[in-house]
Order: sequence, then structure tokens, then C-alpha cells
Amino acid sequence: MKRVLLKLSGEALAGEQKRGFDEATVTEVAKQIKTIVDEGLQVGIVIGGGNFWRGRTSGAMDRSKADQIGMLATIMNCIYVSDICRYVGLKTEVFTPFVCGAFTTLYSKDAVEESFAEGKVVFFAGGTGHPYFSTDTATVLRAVEIGADAILLAKAVDGIYDSDPKVNPDAKKYDEISIDEVVAKKLAAMDLTASIMCMEQKMPMLVFGLDEKDSIVNTVHGKFSGTK
Ligand code: UDP
Repeated sequence: MKRVLLKLSGEALAGEQKRGFDEATVTEVAKQIKTIVDEGLQVGIVIGGGNFWRGRTSGAMDRSKADQIGMLATIMNCIYVSDICRYVGLKTEVFTPFVCGAFTTLYSKDAVEESFAEGKVVFFAGGTGHPYFSTDTATVLRAVEIGADAILLAKAVDGIYDSDPKVNPDAKKYDEISIDEVVAKKLAAMDLTASIMCMEQKMPMLVFGLDEKDSIVNTVHGKFSGTK
């Protein structure tokens, strides 16, 4: 693999407390990113927003407005993780699909290519820029646009299961599953819009648990225990 798109859920940044940021957790993730970047891999990153806000669960609000707050949450997350990545010695750039003044760079494929050529880790913040979408969809969209070799989907659970392992103790984990089957069975790896795009574009995806030690590095090195 030469270029990957890493998706981190918002909750993954929050550690035990489930809200906001946990610096130790994020520093650990940043060090793993440094390891794979130092080995020559180009890394793009999309981060969810669930540690701050989930637009779709806010029933009292207009969905578009709630989703705008969700997209802004993903920008806060990217600014934070980008800065911790700099702290561990990486160069970074945060892109958004809409203007955020001097905080971020406006997304364009050319600008992203320049950034990769300069050895930077590239953050895709702000989702797709549109309500009714998710950062999962933004992940597949950007992965396809930048020609990533694979999506690395780091989750709170360690792979794709036939039912929710938090609810069903007998849930079975798949070592390997086609995205067609994920879509047909509506398995909760990604939301359906993102899964269908992944299927149409034949984008490979590796799903693993972020909690496991060195899981990002191990996944890149082929020592993989999640779902392919
Ligand atoms: N969001 C959006 N459009 C996008 C990406 C995200 O409107 O393209 C909003 C949406 O409200 C979502 C929130 O940002 O709930 C956080 O994104 P994430 O994909 O993490 O959603 P979650 O799965 O945490 O609800």
C-alpha cells in the first residue's frame, strides 16, 4: 500500500470518558501514524464527530442545522488530532469542503496532492460539507478521489459482526466478508450510503479495533486481526 485513508470515530478520541478528547489516547494514535508515515505510507484521515455531537439524534432541531454542528465537531476533532500529530513530529494539513477562514484549507484534489508530495498527513474535516451524510460517506468519497489503496476503518469494536457484540454475546465476527454481503445484510460496519459507494467503487476496507495496542501499525504490516 502506498496511500491509505484512516477513519477514526469521534468516540475513539475520547477514551474512557466518551466525550471530548483524551490526550493519552490521541497521542498513542499519533505515534502509530508517525510510524507508518516514516515507513513511506501516505496517510489521509477522516474523523467522526460523535464525541461532541450527533446531528441525526437531535430530534428537536432542524436536521440541516444539527448536521452543521456535527460537521463543525469533525473540524474540531481534526484540528486537535492534527496538532497532536505535529507534537509527535509529523507535518499536517487540515482540509474542509467549505471555507473556514484561516483555520483550514479549502479542499481541492490538487491541493491535497501537493500536501502529500510535501510529506504531510492530510485531514479531511467537515465531512462531505452536506447534511444528511456521514463521515463514513466522506471517508469513501475522499478515498476514491485520492486513489487510496484501502480504507483503514478503526472502530470501537474489533471488526464486522453478524449482530451487535455489545448487545449479543454470541455475535460472530467475520474474518473476511465482501462489501456486497455487508450491504445485503445491512451489517453495521459503515452506514448504508457509504457501504454502497464502497461496493460500487470496489474500494478495499480493513476494519479493526482502535483499542488494541498498535492496531493501526499492525494492520498496515499485515498482522491483521479485524475484518477484511
Ligand atoms: N455530518 C454531516 N455531513 C457529513 C458528515 C457529517 O452532516 O458529510 C454530521 C452529522 O450530523 C453527523 C455528525 O456530522 O451526525 C458527525 O459525523 P459522524 O459521521 O461521526 O456521525 P455519527 O456517526 O457520530 O453520528
